[in-house]
Amino acid sequence: LKAMRKAFSRKEQRAQLKVQERERAAERAARRARPPRQRDWADGDDTFTMEKMRPGSRASRAASAPAAAAPRPAALTLGTVIEVRSSDSLVSYQGHTVSAKLRPGLRLDDSATRSALAVGDQVELEAAAEDRVRIVAVAPRRSWLSREIYDPNRDDASRRRHVIAANIDQVIVICSPAEPPFRPRLLDRYLVAASRDSLPAVICLNKSDLGVPDDVERALRGYAALGVDVLRTSALAGDGIDDARRLIAGKVSLFSGHSGVGKSSLLNALEEGLALRVGAVTGSTAGQGKGRHTTSSARLVPLSTPDTYVVDTPGIRTFSVRGMDRHDLAGHFTEIAALAAGCSYRDCLHVREPGCAVAAGVGGDSFLRERLASYRGMLAELR
Ligand code: GDP
Ligand code: ZN
Repeated sequence: LKAMRKAFSRKEQRAQLKVQERERAAERAARRARPPRQRDWADGDDTFTMEKMRPGSRASRAASAPAAAAPRPAALTLGTVIEVRSSDSLVSYQGHTVSAKLRPGLRLDDSATRSALAVGDQVELEAAAEDRVRIVAVAPRRSWLSREIYDPNRDDASRRRHVIAANIDQVIVICSPAEPPFRPRLLDRYLVAASRDSLPAVICLNKSDLGVPDDVERALRGYAALGVDVLRTSALAGDGIDDARRLIAGKVSLFSGHSGVGKSSLLNALEEGLALRVGAVTGSTAGQGKGRHTTSSARLVPLSTPDTYVVDTPGIRTFSVRGMDRHDLAGHFTEIAALAAGCSYRDCLHVREPGCAVAAGVGGDSFLRERLASYRGMLAELR
């Protein structure tokens, strides 16, 4: 467990996985020759795979089922966190969804994250008193999307990464050409965060039926030129939905975007009743006197396509990249980083330093000008 709690960097994690793969093979061979013993994360066959949730099962209909209806988990049952709440979390295991608390005394909060648990976390469960289920361990994350939380009432040490979701494969940023307007600055924040957390990001322009203004077309071409995949959909007219299904099949995709861009409509177009399934949970927790607070958290939802999950996040208006080193920011703007090689100062931040090749290189390129403004806006928030 000590080793498990260690914060792995992604590289280390990958290397570790390879090593563990070999070790597991050896373990399996060895296990045949001796009686079974208590398993730990390192030698379970399904350690790093999503615990399977069957759509249409109780797992996907989630919290409406009282916890008591689910069978008590046998010792060392694997589960997946589908929603994190303030006092407990919803965890899915073997087709059931239960509310579970951390085992008292289990400290998962390492220095890298403020919230110990995140949506998508793989956990180990045990049955506790009064039909309750407890989380007794959390597996190392293979990936995550995080956000800096700053609590002004505490000192700097309270700056912490909040893991929005763990063990995801890609971030899908949903935008619209109008109603609400296209917001490249917000999009750039998501792209930077995804890049920082080593996750691929895809732009999904929904409401394409509304027509795409020239400046939005130019921007989309600009992003495509940077190597970002751009998908166009209309949840209303059904355009691009098959492409979207192909994009998410067999993956865990985090759906994000400004409220009103049609995220719920898109989820429903991808699979009938999908957004409703997310919404139903909100309703049921509201019934428990918790208000609508679940709408402010991410939620993992299984689709009927095998191994396909969506992490639905609430519509947001802004997204902070605080906590990054100022000198790292430009590295997440591919085209700015490329120009920066020509700057006079090696630590040039491309604001108003003399001999800045980025400022000089912008020229009449309106997309690059926008991106530089976006970069400078984010830079101003970093210390
Ligand atoms: P969310 O806040 O991102 O979940 O957005 P909703 O799915 O609630 O949609 C917001 C509004 O946009 C609703 O009135 C939808 O009917 C509308 N809408 C969603 N998708 C589309 C689309 O592809 N085209 C058009 N024209 N309207 C859409
Ligand atoms: Zn410069």
